[in-house]
Amino acid sequence: MRIASRLYYPAVIVILLFSVVAAGAADQTIVLKAARMFDGKSKSLIPNGVVVVQGDKIVDVGSNLPVSAGAKVIDLGDMTLSPGFMDAHTHLTLDFSGDFNKRRLEQLDLNVSEQAIRAVGYARRTVEAGFTTVRDVGSRFVSSREFVDVALRNAINKGVIVGPRMLVATKGIGATGGHFDPTGGFRDFLFGREPDYTDGIANGPDEVRKAVRFEVKNGADVIKAAVSGGVLSLADEVDTPQFTPAEMAALVDESHRLRKKVAVHCHGDQAAREAIEAGVDSIEHGSFMKPQTVALLKQKGTFLTPTLMASEYIMSKIDQYPPMLQAKAREATAARSEMFRNAVKMGVRISFGTDAAVFPHGQNAKEFALMTGLGMAAIDALKSATSNDAELLGIAQKVGTLEKGKLADIIAMPGDPIADITATERVSFVMKEGKIIRNGPPSMQTAAESTNITDIAAPVD
Ligand SMILES: [Zn+2]
Repeated sequence: MRIASRLYYPAVIVILLFSVVAAGAADQTIVLKAARMFDGKSKSLIPNGVVVVQGDKIVDVGSNLPVSAGAKVIDLGDMTLSPGFMDAHTHLTLDFSGDFNKRRLEQLDLNVSEQAIRAVGYARRTVEAGFTTVRDVGSRFVSSREFVDVALRNAINKGVIVGPRMLVATKGIGATGGHFDPTGGFRDFLFGREPDYTDGIANGPDEVRKAVRFEVKNGADVIKAAVSGGVLSLADEVDTPQFTPAEMAALVDESHRLRKKVAVHCHGDQAAREAIEAGVDSIEHGSFMKPQTVALLKQKGTFLTPTLMASEYIMSKIDQYPPMLQAKAREATAARSEMFRNAVKMGVRISFGTDAAVFPHGQNAKEFALMTGLGMAAIDALKSATSNDAELLGIAQKVGTLEKGKLADIIAMPGDPIADITATERVSFVMKEGKIIRNGPPSMQTAAESTNITDIAAPVD
């Protein structure tokens, strides 16, 4: 009997403690208060914003809401609450910033596992900057079979590491010799074979379908393709089409049949027109799009992901790129500002995306000031990074606005981002699915990494 009770009581205590902890986690109400709130959809900021969080969800949102007894109140003072930012164009497993040739050699030198370990830091830096969701549109390592973006996404989802929610594209799909050909610019057959669909390289509609199926099989949430040349590739012109209309039709049809959205890297006007006609979901970059093509974008409701930061960074470090890339960067940057102004004037749906990896991870929010500098209203720039991106990514039912029932992805920045859009670069509170990732200075890891990061030297325009 004595033995039995000795066994019995600790067991009861353990069970009771466990139930208290479990109930506490589910029922703990957190009330976030700040001087202002951007809810992701309204035309202006709401004063005295209050967001009530329970577990991983938002249970109430409003101005001056009463606080229930027992709730944990976090009063952020003179700050602005916002839905977590999203970036529809990142490469969290890569880093192309800094000297181009040095990086190119590093990509060949470094063990892919080491590059994956580095990506853990990039993910943390990104979420600590207020970006609670990213679409990751291409993760490729020359002559490697690894799916590092899938691994990173899964490790974040399982709580193994801290990072943003990721929708990943795996390798992306492109043509032989095109922007995505990982052997472009190297001596022929240096890597022993021509890349094929397993590397995301496809020619002809059937091969494009095979590449889509292969990427979905290996964990792609979204399909990314390069339908025109690019800036940071050595074997193509920046604006030439790289897929035929028949290949684009196959790309879109196969992806949509598998319920995946299609994002296309595209600088050139002709390729953009053909891609929009084929029914892609977003045009990434779009630098050389003529007004008629921008009008077609508007008519079809296709999203534009402008990635102004990419050209901004390259132009600020132009000496660090080979002469051929310098010429391509100059051309694309000169064209993209007018294209973007046109898109804003015509009321095109603009999804916030930066091309993080071309510049150091964590500086994504600098895109906001570039957008407003080219004529976009601050409130619309904020919407592009919240409700617009949620819609493009197909996750608007779960995130993108501060609304009852949505996941508690909530950030806060000092001051008023409408009066000073650079407030977005100073996010100091980050909550993802109800868990506080940051409240105050960045984590030690991020602070330590940031000391080695090169910043943008001077704005371009
Ligand atoms: Zn990119």
